[in-house]
Formats: sequence, C-alpha cells, structure tokens
Amino acid sequence: MISDLHNHSRYSYDSKRNMEDMVKEAISKNVKYFAFTDHLDFNKNDPGCNFYKGEEQFEEFKILKKKYFKTITLFYGIESSYEKEYEEKIKKSFHTFNFDFRIVSLHFVNSIVISNWIKMIEEDKENIFDVDYMPYFKQLRKIIDFGDFEILGHIDYYKKYSKFKTHIETFKKYENEYKDILKNIIKKNIILEINTSGLRHSCEEQFPSEGILEMYKDFGGKIVSTGSDSHKEGDILTGYNVLKKILKRFNFEIFKL
Ligand SMILES: [Zn+2]
Ligand SMILES: [Zn+2]
Repeated sequence: MISDLHNHSRYSYDSKRNMEDMVKEAISKNVKYFAFTDHLDFNKNDPGCNFYKGEEQFEEFKILKKKYFKTITLFYGIESSYEKEYEEKIKKSFHTFNFDFRIVSLHFVNSIVISNWIKMIEEDKENIFDVDYMPYFKQLRKIIDFGDFEILGHIDYYKKYSKFKTHIETFKKYENEYKDILKNIIKKNIILEINTSGLRHSCEEQFPSEGILEMYKDFGGKIVSTGSDSHKEGDILTGYNVLKKILKRFNFEIFKL
C-alpha cells in the first residue's frame, strides 16, 4: 500500500501547486492514500503567517475526494508549526477545520526560523561536537507536551540546514533526549513520521535517521506515517525506494486512518 501523507499545495506559502494536479501526479505514481498537509503558521517572522485558507481549501478538497474516490483515497490534513505562545490559536484552528489528522512540526527554535537558527549556531564551529543543539530538543519536548495531534513531523529536521553532512554525532550526544522524546511519543500514541524529503536535500537522508528509528522500534513503536513533503511537481513519492527498504528492515506498520 503506497501512502503519501505529507504534501503541500498552493494553500502553503511555499508551494504553487494546484490540488488537482497533485492528485493526478499521485494517481500516476500508484499512490493509494494521499493527504494534503498545508502549513499552519502564526509566528510573525514566518512568511506563511496567517496564509492558510482552510475553508476555501476544504471546499476544493471535497470536490476532488468525490471525483477521484474510485482510484485514490484523499485526506485533508495539516502541518502546523508549534510554539507555546501560539498554542491557543493552533488549538482553535484544529477545532475549526475538519482535519482527518494533524502533523505538528518544529520549524522554529527560540522564535527563530530553523534555517537561520542552525546557520547561527553552526557559523563559527568547525567541529560538530562544539555545536549546542540543546535548544532544539527543548522545543521538541514542548511539542510533545502539547500532544494534541496525531503525527510528529520530521523529528531530526536540523539535518536539512546543517553544514555537517552526517549527524550520527548529534544522535549520540543527545541520545538521552531522543530516548525521552520517543518514549513520550509512544506513551501519547503520537505517530512518528518518516519524511523522505531529506533525501532531496544536502543531508541525503530521510528524517529520521535509522538510529532514531531503531530506538523507536526498541521502545515499542510499531506504526509510522510516511510522506514525501512534496512542494513541487515531481516531488510526490520521491525517496520511496529508500523508504521501502527501511519499512522492510524495521517491519513497521503504516499509519492508516
Ligand atoms: Zn515541515
Ligand atoms: Zn511539510
């Protein structure tokens, strides 16, 4: 069963894609379960702040779901950034719109968009061991404490913007953080996402790395959600050849609604 539950359409500030074109691409690639998960952002420093038009999108979604129901199952999801100060707004949106599921992702650390934050903390460091990634994990813990969602997006997203290619060192250094976070995810029935977009970026690896997946499995994690985090034509399902091997290796079940 091919399931791609993380995709961005023109309802995200950083994608221009028409929803129907996405459905057609997904069908051409034999996707059976496909979700739209556009960005929900409230931080004023985010270009996507207040960009999301849920009502308009839901109307378009309903038409597509009906039109293509024989070939593909479509879901109406969301990818929300989380910061404590916007918690009420996030909750309100979660209850206003009829989402099939909610992905929550870390896109900000200490109110700074992660791409800038990573550049800032790594700028003058030559050795990965000298970089303090701890604020990232503190923010991740806040997301898990919030807990009002189904899927945790791209858990080791710092890899995307890092100048260091491999993050095995980071995993080892922050192993205790990962232990706690993964245990809590499982306890709260939050599903870990395998996001293949990392394979399209310089880290050349899915989120999360295999070490993290191994830990998740060891703590009793059985289910993962799978997504390509597509933003452009051709992105849907990219990296699924790698994903297939991972699913086989760990014998994970795929998140179903
Ligand atoms: Zn994201
Ligand atoms: Zn995304």
